[in-house]
Amino acid sequence: MFNLVLFGPPGSGKGTQSENIVKTYNLEHISTGDLLRSEVSRATPLGVEAQKYMDQGLLVPDEVVIGMISSKIDESADARGFIFDGFPRTRAQAEALDKLLEFKNTKIDLVLALDVSEAELTKRLIGRGLTSGRSDDTEDVIVKRIKEYRSKTEPVASYYDAHGKLETVQGNHPVEETFKLLSKNINKYLLPVA
Ligand code: ADP
Repeated sequence: MFNLVLFGPPGSGKGTQSENIVKTYNLEHISTGDLLRSEVSRATPLGVEAQKYMDQGLLVPDEVVIGMISSKIDESADARGFIFDGFPRTRAQAEALDKLLEFKNTKIDLVLALDVSEAELTKRLIGRGLTSGRSDDTEDVIVKRIKEYRSKTEPVASYYDAHGKLETVQGNHPVEETFKLLSKNINKYLLPVA
């Protein structure tokens, strides 16, 4: 199994690049943002709870997200590997993920962090808000999401760096170019299938 974390601030292109990576390397995509939005749209108890945080640009509590991930991993036990997108977002989530994977006799192999300037992030997110229909893509919520990222999520990068797993990739480039940079790193571990 090969397990990858795609790391980076809101708007850094994790969703787009995940799609490319999934197609090229046949990995199972786990996006906590997508999973949470699906719960919200189905108005499940979890979704109703999560929406309160998401609409304010705040992180959903760790125990909610960790439980969701655990069942998702179990559903795809025979996958070639996983790509985690938008998770882990706190140190507690990173530690919980290590424990979950250890229990399944596997581990995180690589963390690719997308580095994008603050000005570019805001521009992309506001642009996406015009068409995404996402209630958290408005200017005031975007500012809060980036703040939440800097205070709670950025420290997760040092956690993985301390374990020798972190590689940073420039994400200001057009999609295809950034994908080439990501691939170069993944190819050291795994051959493309497509
Ligand atoms: P983006 O990275 O573009 O902000 P996501 O779709 O990954 O978008 O996340 C949207 C929202 O969902 C976040 O602002 C947060 O409220 C919630 N969320 C997603 N993933 C997590 C997570 N791992 N932990 C806590 N909250 C999360």
